[in-house]
Amino acid sequence: MMKCPNCQSKDLGKIGVNQYYCWNCFIELSIGKETIHTHQVEEDGSLSSLDDLFDEQLRKLS
Ligand SMILES: [Zn+2]
Repeated sequence: MMKCPNCQSKDLGKIGVNQYYCWNCFIELSIGKETIHTHQVEEDGSLSSLDDLFDEQLRKLS
């Protein structure tokens, strides 16, 4: 089961192919080959990457 790398919540909603939304901390997650990519949805609807905030180890798919 996938967890949010930010808050460790499992309360993730599927919003597309390989894309999830964390209902706990409101970030978007997309599933890459081996890692989870994290994005924040800005007020204008654009996405900014949060990957820098998380150790790659945390984003690894187990
Ligand atoms: Zn979260």
